Amino acid sequence: EKRSLRSEVRALQNLVQELRGSIRVFCRIRPPREPTAGGAGTEAQGSRSISLRKPAGDKRHDFSFDRVFSQEASQRDLYEEVEPLIPGVLQGIHVCIFAYGQTGAGKTYTLAGNKRMGEPGIQDLAIADLLKLAAVDGARFDVRLSALEIYNESIQDLLSELRGDPNGPQETSERLEVRQSREDLSASWPSPFGSMRVPGLKSWPVREPPDVEQALQRIASQRHVASTALNERSSRSHCVLSLSVRPAGGSISEEGRREATGVLHIVDLAGSERTKISQAEGMQMKEANCINRSLSALSDVLYALGDSTGNAHIPFRNSKLTYLLQDALGGPGCKTFLLAQVSPDSADVNESYSTLTFASRVAANVQKGRLRPLSRGERGSPASRSCDASPRLRSQD
Ligand code: ADP
Ligand code: MG
Repeated sequence: EKRSLRSEVRALQNLVQELRGSIRVFCRIRPPREPTAGGAGTEAQGSRSISLRKPAGDKRHDFSFDRVFSQEASQRDLYEEVEPLIPGVLQGIHVCIFAYGQTGAGKTYTLAGNKRMGEPGIQDLAIADLLKLAAVDGARFDVRLSALEIYNESIQDLLSELRGDPNGPQETSERLEVRQSREDLSASWPSPFGSMRVPGLKSWPVREPPDVEQALQRIASQRHVASTALNERSSRSHCVLSLSVRPAGGSISEEGRREATGVLHIVDLAGSERTKISQAEGMQMKEANCINRSLSALSDVLYALGDSTGNAHIPFRNSKLTYLLQDALGGPGCKTFLLAQVSPDSADVNESYSTLTFASRVAANVQKGRLRPLSRGERGSPASRSCDASPRLRSQD
């Protein structure tokens, strides 16, 4: 009885998520660094709007999103938006969370929390819930974690062995490539990116919180090595953490398990601040170009997905990040969150303006897509990006 109640609650949660659409755009304002004076900067206006004033200008700019989280919002408040989708991941849906914003706006804080303060991030809360749910009925699900970094359009595994002398100059791991193919017989675990494969990418089995802790430590040290080589690299690269979950053993065929693999991707994007390309040279110029191009490619993809009738052209190929994540973004049963992080400070107002403009371009199109009545062919067709979490597993229920 308890079980059927639980599945009814889940069905209702799925329905609510379905009504909210497959892309949702949030904004979070981090606590101020400077005393608020003169009204320049950004400020939450209720739970769905944010206003911005430039120091010199008198005009107030307003932006609205699915949710705006003020500087008082807790990590739990944010996680509550993601939480109802976690059971869906066990049933085969793909959830993608992007944190966007200038360096220092709180992207890593929101996703990974602050370990020193014992403050979990939404990724810690999500992983903990995922592991709990996966263990509810004995070991019915296997969970694996992988992590990669995209820096200057090249991919590195963040879980690979550290190479060289730990006290000497270190090299980071080798470059990996993305390939598109249906089958990769050499892999023992399905790619977290669906038909997009990254041959050689490690995936660590995780069962208990200490397994996750160990993996996150390895990731942190890999990122650290990378940044001593090229200064502050973590803000110049995209970090993609992927948790994949599939039903364990039993009577399910290998094919069935592949089909039912659900994934949660958590993406800490490179800082969105504009480097003045005219003043940068060499490596800095290359970095700035790569970041600008890949963030606009992401914007174009999310924009196209927001209003797609199911057959619009979606420009996944314009960057490594969107190419890699295309199955997680565009397929049936995909849920995407864009989390725009902004600073409230007047010193950051130009960057905040550009972050809010980026996010509201996506949000406005998503809104339009939600209001647009479904066309004939779209209703109930598998091509519509619905998020009914159940169909992939229905045969095993
Ligand atoms: P980013 O990853 O976008 O560069 P960080 O997450 O590193 O930014 O945040 C910059 C600093 O601000 C860090 O010291 C972080 O702990 C702090 N910070 C960010 N957001 C919050 C928040 N909501 N509450 C408390 N501290 C925060
Ligand atoms: Mg960061």
